[in-house]
Amino acid sequence: MHIDTTLGKFACQNQAFGPVLYRRNGPVAEIVLNLPAKLNSITAEMAVGLQAAMDQAEADPGVRSILLCGAGRAFSAGFDLGTMEADPSLEDMTAMLQMDFDVIMRFWNSPKPTLSAVHGYVLGGGFELAMACDMTIAAEDAMFGEPEPKFGSGIVALLLPWLTGPKQAKEMLLFGNDRVTADRALQMGLVNSVVPQSELLDVARDTARRAAVLDGLAVRMTKDAINKSYGRMGLEGALREALAIDIQIETSETEESRTFKEILATKGVKAAIAWREVRFAALDATSAETEEKNKMSYTALVVDKSEDGVTQTIQTLENDTLPKGDVTVAVEYSSVNYKDGLCLSATGGLVRKFPHVPGIDYAGTVEHSADPRYMPGDKVVLTGWRVGENHWGGYATRTRIAADKLVPLPQGLSTAQAMMVGTAGLTSMLAVMALERNGLTPDQGEVLVTGASGGVGSVAVAILAKLGYQVAAVTGSEANSAFLTDLGASRIVLREELSETVKRPLETETWAGCIDAVGGSMLARILGQMKYGSSVAAIGLTGGADLPASVVPFLLRGVTLKGIDSVMQPFEDRQKAWARIATDLPIAKLEELSTSIKLEDVADAGARILKGDIKGRTIVEL
Ligand code: NDP
Repeated sequence: MHIDTTLGKFACQNQAFGPVLYRRNGPVAEIVLNLPAKLNSITAEMAVGLQAAMDQAEADPGVRSILLCGAGRAFSAGFDLGTMEADPSLEDMTAMLQMDFDVIMRFWNSPKPTLSAVHGYVLGGGFELAMACDMTIAAEDAMFGEPEPKFGSGIVALLLPWLTGPKQAKEMLLFGNDRVTADRALQMGLVNSVVPQSELLDVARDTARRAAVLDGLAVRMTKDAINKSYGRMGLEGALREALAIDIQIETSETEESRTFKEILATKGVKAAIAWREVRFAALDATSAETEEKNKMSYTALVVDKSEDGVTQTIQTLENDTLPKGDVTVAVEYSSVNYKDGLCLSATGGLVRKFPHVPGIDYAGTVEHSADPRYMPGDKVVLTGWRVGENHWGGYATRTRIAADKLVPLPQGLSTAQAMMVGTAGLTSMLAVMALERNGLTPDQGEVLVTGASGGVGSVAVAILAKLGYQVAAVTGSEANSAFLTDLGASRIVLREELSETVKRPLETETWAGCIDAVGGSMLARILGQMKYGSSVAAIGLTGGADLPASVVPFLLRGVTLKGIDSVMQPFEDRQKAWARIATDLPIAKLEELSTSIKLEDVADAGARILKGDIKGRTIVEL
């Protein structure tokens, strides 16, 4: 908005007090800040001019109210930094600030009602000037702020906390919010009304005339009474103290203020302001960039169902399709598991609602979080919670999830490594931890792992071996022996040795502990071979869901059968397990067994995992 201050707009003759225009418009004295080329920065001449204009308005008995406005694009950008002395003495600084303070408070203390009509920038001293008036009307484009603390300056007339609450005052002064819009200023009680830009002067003049119609004496005395109320509350004393603090601030040197003044002296106001804004611009840019990024679409492997059956296609989706959750994650890696194979199959497997994005595990970087536990840049991992089944999963470049379900990635583990570990590795670690909780230590004897060449079993073998346990690995094929020995197994037990059902509920005490991925009759048999007081962690059912067992091992040997669930495992245990994975899992061995594929290859990998064609871990690079 540009305010025209030529005579045509105003009825009466202009008088100039330096860069301040003064005119009588009927009973209203109009005072115009008239340094538009400098956004009406308050120079020493302007301060003098304002005092002179106020002298005239107050002395003129025909003036019943005073209207203050600014010419050009802004009401005022604040005190002029360009004419500031480079290194003023304490006396000079005190005199200058006192002069600024006095001119601002002149509008508060004037016996006549004062009204500011503001538009564009209303900053620093300009903001204080507007606040000091009895009323303020703002154009819609007005922007309020006190940027002084950004460059080591203080506030000359600290009226702000008297007009708005401490939270808002502190937000503006201590947290650098110097871009308060007209609507927000209205909410904060800093202005009386907001009007369209084209109507600002008309509304302000009408309002000023209303004051002029009132009884002059009553208005003067009532204003005095209102001001005295603030006096009683300690306004003057508080402002004096604030001014003293400002003088202290202005005469103390900090790194910021020194740099600012140096740039001001050598390169001018624009360069100094640019330096001042740079850190904030960086912040703004970060949030703007993030916002921009968040606005963008993302790529996902979508499973959908139509009359032609279940399809898997890679699609570009808008962000408003992201699943519910308070943390947005840029997915870096996911993995291919049996459950994923099912969801990618011709029937859609475990998928309850189409369209769907599978991927039961993922790891990536937080892009945005509405939960204070996470912030952009944090590395996170997700497994379980039926993600990829009834909540959209990790086969997408971006996803969203409840903060409760994520785990911060522990130090020392990359997102790719976390996916090599995945649900299978987490389950193994939870099983190891369960056995340890039950008292298992390496000196107690051999620990049995069944389904040993599988996803869970192989990691369990590797972890136990690294922890110093003697591991007996049960496998269906002798061909797996080298693989299992390489992982750290000290003995290979062929599956058939344990699948034979025996009639006796108790056999020789053989195993100090067991991690069982098989279940069924093999688990029943193993229970009878457990050592006294030992425990079995049951994690899977590849051999069957039945348990044709006897309770005798529980009763006569105090054996514990501990079920392991990785899906709904509470956060604390998950976090502990991931921390242990970072330290106790021989990740290099896992890396040797892992293959990385792209999103385009996932559908094929899903089909192969169902056929048992995949060995080791398959991770998906997003
Ligand atoms: P895999 O398919 O990778 O491995 C299973 C292994 O079990 C096979 O490699 C094979 O090993 C063995 N096996 C297969 N069929 C039989 C059979 N009929 N009898 C005996 N052994 C058999 O699966 P995972 O390791 O990923 O999962 C193992 C089990 O754990 C599954 O039942 C799975 O559903 C469950 N699971 C449970 C979790 C939980 O939170 N509790 C989490 C993840 C998985 P080998 O050739 O060496 O004999």
